[in-house]
This record gives sequence, structure tokens and C-alpha cells, in this order.
Amino acid sequence: MDDKVLGILGGGQLGRMVLEVANRLNIKTYILDSGINTSAKQISNSTEHIDGSFKDAESIKKLCEKSDVITIEIEHINADILIDIQKSKPSLKIFPSPKIIKLIQDKYIQKIHFIHNDINVAESASVEKSEESLIKIGGKFGYPFMLKSRTLAYDGRGNFVVNSKEDVPKGLEFLKNNNLLYAEKWCPFIKELAVMVVLTQDGSVHTYPTVETIHKNNICHIVYAPAEVSSKIQVAAQELAKKAVGSLKEAGAGIFGVEMFLLEDGELLINEIAPRPHNSGHYTIDACVCSQFEAHIRAVMGLPIPEGATSFSTNTTNAIMLNVIGFKEPNGELKACHRAFETAGASVYLYGKSSRHERKVGHINIVGSSMEENKKKLDYIMSGVSSKVP
Ligand code: ATP
Ligand code: MG
Ligand code: MG
Repeated sequence: MDDKVLGILGGGQLGRMVLEVANRLNIKTYILDSGINTSAKQISNSTEHIDGSFKDAESIKKLCEKSDVITIEIEHINADILIDIQKSKPSLKIFPSPKIIKLIQDKYIQKIHFIHNDINVAESASVEKSEESLIKIGGKFGYPFMLKSRTLAYDGRGNFVVNSKEDVPKGLEFLKNNNLLYAEKWCPFIKELAVMVVLTQDGSVHTYPTVETIHKNNICHIVYAPAEVSSKIQVAAQELAKKAVGSLKEAGAGIFGVEMFLLEDGELLINEIAPRPHNSGHYTIDACVCSQFEAHIRAVMGLPIPEGATSFSTNTTNAIMLNVIGFKEPNGELKACHRAFETAGASVYLYGKSSRHERKVGHINIVGSSMEENKKKLDYIMSGVSSKVP
């Protein structure tokens, strides 16, 4: 399909699902990640993948040397070296731009960026790693407040809820390996929403439907598409997502996951942006004309994305995605997959990762023309593995 070679920094499940599309479209793709058998590398037998860290300058250089287009499936990469490489090899397309990846990497700088661009976020403050500094913030923000790592966060692993002054030492202990911290005012949201936004190289912007994400212990658990909110809020969330991604000037091309909080009075706040395919967009594989992974590939490779590509496909108006998250008992989570196999309209995706407690090892999409029906199916799939559907 395309004679240009795509290099991807990161070889986890998002890379795997991007690679699935690249395989289908005959796009030669190389993965950079440590290990020869990562989730993404498993599904492409190329001898040209690179075994190295996506933080290691030399490994990144090697990938860039043999690629025409570079993208990421994780934001925690060495952005500085990409900035340097871009200068010495201007013909190399790096999407999204390393400058924007760097901005997003530091969640506090990301927040400040949104504030400067008149985009509402939860009140945030940079803090010292000291009890005194945190108690001062507790006095200002009230309790609970959220203590967050500024960098390297994922699945809430860099978050600690400080419920009272007495929790402050626990928070510092929990985040002791994280260098920079910041504090966020508690956000009393009624729902969490997310919108995937695609930027193309010719400057057009496409948005997927607004979805609701349900988190359990800070990890995305279930996605309802579309979100069960008024159409006014659905549109407002899409507009806010476009504005937030639009504020990332010179981001280049690619897909962005925009996470938001919906407050009781209908106000929307941005939580954060992921500069890559996102867990809240997995439902698009079965529910939309073009999946988030294909849209990302098309955007970074300069392939066309027609109007309507990011809409629900014919006969699909509603979808639910359930993450398959590792149980304490190894492989216990696979019971849900077996039930999904028995369910019409449900599809199972496993990532080739070993079962570990709280690890995302796959997801299940349920699609149809009625959310009520989909919810019954979800109930069936989850019964036996969980006592309560959120
Ligand atoms: P991701 O896996 O999405 O990258 P992350 O580790 O970067 O997650 P956040 O998105 O900052 O973490 O937070 C994870 C979850 O914690 C949110 O989806 C939300 O449920 C909750 N949360 C985060 N910030 C706040 C806040 N200020 N008030 C209340 N809840 C919050
Ligand atoms: Mg994050
Ligand atoms: Mg998040």
C-alpha cells in the first residue's frame, strides 16, 4: 500500500493493534522495545524490529535510520533525542511532534499549557516532596486532594488520594520513586468522558463519538459508547476535545485521546491528553467505520481519511468495551473471555501478555443497536467473574 516504512516506539498492546492494521495494509513496520517477543512484535515476524529501550538514544537512532515515518504507542519515550534527530534528518516525519510529546509527558506542564489556552482543568499546584508542602496544599485545596506524579504515570500508578492530613506521609511514601509531584484539587465529577481526535497532515480534524469511561482503582475498566449524556454534552465534549488538541500547536498528525471530567452542572474539565491510540477508543475496532488504530496509521502515513470514517458503522449505534484485567488467581480473568465467545456481537482481543494481577491483558468489545441489549450481554460476560456491573 505504501512504500514508506513506519517505525513505532513502544511494543505493547497499542502497538500490536496498530501493527494489525499495518499488516492488513501492507505497511512495513518496525517496532522498538526491549525484548524480542513483546505484545506487538509477536504478530510480525520481521527480523528488523529493534530490541532496545524506547528511552535509549542509540536504539531510537537505529529505528529512525531505517524508517520514513516515526510514531509512538506510549508517551514515556526519550523526546529530546527525537528533537535532535528531527533536526539532522528533516525528511523524517515524526508524528506527533516530539515537542508536543515532551509537553504532554509532564502532566503539570500539560495543565499549565491548558490554563494558558483558556481550557478548564482541575486546579493544580506544583509541590515539594515534603510534608510541609503537602499540608499547605491540603489547607488550600481541602481534602481529599489528588497527589500525582508529573511524569511516567499510567493506569493511576502515579496517583495517590490524600484523604486527610494524616495521609500525607503515606502519599510521600507511595510516590517516593517519582521525582516530580504536583497536587490536584479533588474533582467531584459525575461521569468521566473521553473523545478521540484525529489530526491529519493536511490540517483536517476528525472526532470520534463521546464515550463514558468507568475507572476502578484508577484503571479504565469499562467504556460506554456513546456516553449516556445529552446530545448537547456529547457535542460539547467533542468541541472541547478539538479545542484541547488544537491548542497543541504544530502537533503534526495522529490520534489523541482526550480524557475529561463531567461535573454536575454540565461543566467539562480536561483531565489529560494521550498523544496516541487510547484505551477509550478500543471499541472503534468493531463499532466504527475506521478504527482508531487505522485512523492513526492513515494520519501519520498521509493516507486519506474521508468524512464519516470516525462515525459508528451501519447497524451499530452502541458499543461497550470491557477491559480484561488480570486477577490475583492467574488467568482467572479469562472466564469473561469464554463467556464473550458465547455471546453474539462480542469480540475478544488478547494481547499476548502473561496474566498478572491488575495488568491489562486484553479487552472485549460488545456492539449492537441497543445499549440495553449490550448491557445485558455485558452482565452475562461479567457474571461469574464480578458480583456487580458498574
Ligand atoms: P492513564 O492510564 O489514563 O494515563 P494516569 O495514571 O495518567 O492514567 P490520571 O488520568 O491522572 O492518571 O488519573 C486516573 C484516574 O484517577 C482518572 O481517570 C480519575 O478516575 C481519577 N482522578 C484523576 N484526577 C482526579 C481528580 N483531580 N479528582 C478526582 N479523581 C481524579
Ligand atoms: Mg495518563
Ligand atoms: Mg488518565
